[in-house]
Amino acid sequence: MLRKGLAMKRILAMLLAAAAPAAAQQPSTAPAAPAAAQLPAAAQPPATPPAARQPNFDNVQIRVERLAPGVAVLFGRGGNIGLSYGVDGNVIIDDQYAPLTDRILAAIRSLDPDPIRFVINTHWHGDHTGGNENVGRTGAVIVAQDNVRRRMSMEQVVRGEHVAPSPAGALPVVTFSEGVTFHLNADDIRVIHVAHAHTDGDALVFWTHANVLHMGDTFFNGLLPFIDLDSGGSIDGAIAAVEAGLALANDATVIIPGHGPIGRRADLVRYRDMLVDLRDRVRQGIAAHRTLEQIKALRLADRYGPPDGFISPDALIETIYRSLRAPAH
Ligand SMILES: [Zn+2]
Repeated sequence: MLRKGLAMKRILAMLLAAAAPAAAQQPSTAPAAPAAAQLPAAAQPPATPPAARQPNFDNVQIRVERLAPGVAVLFGRGGNIGLSYGVDGNVIIDDQYAPLTDRILAAIRSLDPDPIRFVINTHWHGDHTGGNENVGRTGAVIVAQDNVRRRMSMEQVVRGEHVAPSPAGALPVVTFSEGVTFHLNADDIRVIHVAHAHTDGDALVFWTHANVLHMGDTFFNGLLPFIDLDSGGSIDGAIAAVEAGLALANDATVIIPGHGPIGRRADLVRYRDMLVDLRDRVRQGIAAHRTLEQIKALRLADRYGPPDGFISPDALIETIYRSLRAPAH
């Protein structure tokens, strides 16, 4: 995680340098611009962009929102954390960043003083698994899809940036291929793998009694999505994952996105429609032998998100184009 953090700081330094050279806090006299220029033209932020905007965790506060009896969400920095609490102990879905672990555990204690029994990772990205080692050290069992452990065990490349392997103590110790169910706290919590979506190790988590659904990063609520093709993600899988979520949800379902505020089924429908619209239009462009630049010039994604969001419309179009040209399946 330390080396991961350093890699993120490097990316951040480059992004800062690109935005305002004077703000780059590199003691080096080397000009910042060449480093930024090494980024691909359509570079989008790394897997953890919300955090990368502000590397200092000092001012991060963990905010708890109760969603149903025994179910809450924690917002801090990084992926939204789901929590099941009650007579059988605490289960968390993702754990943000290592420097936040103490604050996350304190926030959980405000609801339930018991230790964490299980951590379920929705996928391998560092803004969702960064606290694994710390929480694992408290006795929690880390659970994730097979590909989460596989990718965390090896060096990864996200948008051209190398991410070091995670330490052994951060790795999931229980893995599954298709799914697993937790029977505790008066609920049956289903963990369901969705293939080649945001990555190749995504899982949805569904409280069948409380009717709460954690989508992980297969749902960015109010933000343009990041689909990590280098980690086995794909546009078709991303759409299929949302369809799987829609099949579980009804109008009363409370939906936790990987990033953004709590949503409802109607929000997920709009998100699905956006992905389908963009996928179909980019596919039509490819069928018409348009180049990526020509398809970008159509400004297809502009109406779905701001140009300066953490995933730009151009970056999203390029991702969809690349995914359709080289499917992950
Ligand atoms: Zn992610």
